[in-house]
Amino acid sequence: MAAPLQPTRVEVIGEELALVWSDGAESYLPLEKLRRYCPCASCGGEPDVLGRIERPQVSYGPRSFALRGFRFIGGYALQPTWDDGHDTGLYTFKLLRALDEHAAT
Ligand SMILES: [Zn+2]
Repeated sequence: MAAPLQPTRVEVIGEELALVWSDGAESYLPLEKLRRYCPCASCGGEPDVLGRIERPQVSYGPRSFALRGFRFIGGYALQPTWDDGHDTGLYTFKLLRALDEHAAT
């Protein structure tokens, strides 16, 4: 079984999050896109019993698409802290990879 894909390098370059993956691929994810895909309950909503996802109204400010920092969680996810203080979204490596539509999954 192949080792799960994980980023070996992550850095913010301009307005993009640049990732280098363990298979050598590189992803450049615009920060605005990244924020709009925030998977936390208050941004992304959670599926109800029928599996429907209620998208709550999310308002973004001018600082919502800037990154203050990020940290790795348990070797499977990245937790960004946005400049408006929002930090509850855990982006699994799988999600990050999926957000790069040019990358093979
Ligand atoms: Zn969120």
